[in-house]
Amino acid sequence: MDYFPLFLNLRRQRCLIVGGGDVALRKARLLLAAGAELIVVSPDLADELAALRDRGEITHAQREFDQADIDGMRLVIAATDDEAVNAQVHAECEARNVLVNVVDTPEKCRFIVPSIIDRAPLMVAISTGGAAPVLARQLRARIEATLPHGYGVLARLAGALRERVKTRFGDERARRRFWETALEGPAAEKALAGNEAGAMAELEQRLAHSDAAALQRGAVYLVGAGPGNPDLLTFRALRLMQQADVVLYDNLVAPAIIELVRRDAERIYVGKKSNNHALPQEDINRLLVKLALDGKTVLRLKGGDPFIFGRGGEEIEELAAAGVDFEVVPGITSASGASCYAGIPLTHRDHAQSVTFVTGHRRGDAIELDWPRLVSPSETVVIYMGVKQAPHICEQLIAHGRDAGTPAAIVEKATTAEQRVLTGTLASLPALITRHGIKPPALIIVGSVVSLHGKLGWRAPSA
Ligand code: SAH
Repeated sequence: MDYFPLFLNLRRQRCLIVGGGDVALRKARLLLAAGAELIVVSPDLADELAALRDRGEITHAQREFDQADIDGMRLVIAATDDEAVNAQVHAECEARNVLVNVVDTPEKCRFIVPSIIDRAPLMVAISTGGAAPVLARQLRARIEATLPHGYGVLARLAGALRERVKTRFGDERARRRFWETALEGPAAEKALAGNEAGAMAELEQRLAHSDAAALQRGAVYLVGAGPGNPDLLTFRALRLMQQADVVLYDNLVAPAIIELVRRDAERIYVGKKSNNHALPQEDINRLLVKLALDGKTVLRLKGGDPFIFGRGGEEIEELAAAGVDFEVVPGITSASGASCYAGIPLTHRDHAQSVTFVTGHRRGDAIELDWPRLVSPSETVVIYMGVKQAPHICEQLIAHGRDAGTPAAIVEKATTAEQRVLTGTLASLPALITRHGIKPPALIIVGSVVSLHGKLGWRAPSA
């Protein structure tokens, strides 16, 4: 992080602008909007600045800058077209630890001014740290367009009720949950539609009828996080990620996705590489129950879909038995992710009429698969957790009658920037996997559909 983001309370604080042109005027307007007590030092003033002076909104010192001008200032902006003066202002401020900004000169800025979307009291600030101001402006335009003005109203109403909500719900979590639901429901709709009185009435009513005990009850959300690319999360997943008190996750959930979890949430890594469970499944099940009974909103994030080779079923069985509230949110399973991102349709009128998902994970001595069911030429087979057992799997499929020349692929880290796709045949795939050092997570796809990869693979191979 190159800059520390913050919002500064400048009400009645002495601030200085050096310079009297149009740029100075723009900065002056912003500082006045924030309630600053503004002094402008400049031999001459643009008309509108002069008008501000005449109305008594700013104080004007009509002369060149002097280092004594900095005395007692919270913040200083240099906006002259004279580089030497700007440099002097900068040096004097730095020497005295006064916050300084030289307009359009990042290397002479102790602070920078972001692009803002103003829905006071709601404020969105964007900065690229000076790297791409145009990008910041474009983003700003996008947010402007999607953030209705009513959000400002909603924020103001919430502010007005804040103390009463605090008195009503002593428990911090209950309070947060009250707001999470209150600010999404009909009150929000009314505020966004410009019906301020209706929105307030709605909030009041909720406050009167919310049950503190119910708000303090915990719950577990078993959420599919998809195959790794954050763009493939569902809206529901993202929303729950931002409401969680605690999140349990494992290897399959990419760091880029964990980044999106509410910053204050506790993060518990429960591991899970095959044969190297950081926490045994039974302990995970028990931990989920305990956290929920403590009143927490618990997010159990799973790679892909929780109900496809995710042991999601086992985890919620325990929750159901303990009477804990839970919800299951589907995710894009890695077979779908790999199929789309590798350009290998899992079914196709000319190639495959059905698809089967199987696990290549060994249980005890053997892989427990119904091999004869997997050898029809018109069937696609997707094998999860099969990297290590690939030679055995391919061999068994051939032994049970699938043609050794059947196209087969392996897709490593599907949908992410590091995705790799290798294609061959049932006979050649195991050697390919070894030669290229493919590691889990990876999926094996077997069937005639793999031959379409050459034509339909739309994703540039990774470097
Ligand atoms: N619930 C998950 C599967 C968990 S089992 C899902 O629905 O996808 C773990 C296996 O999933 C891995 O061994 C691998 O075979 C597969 N897998 C998960 N993410 C993957 C990815 N990004 N690319 C390829 N395979 C993946």
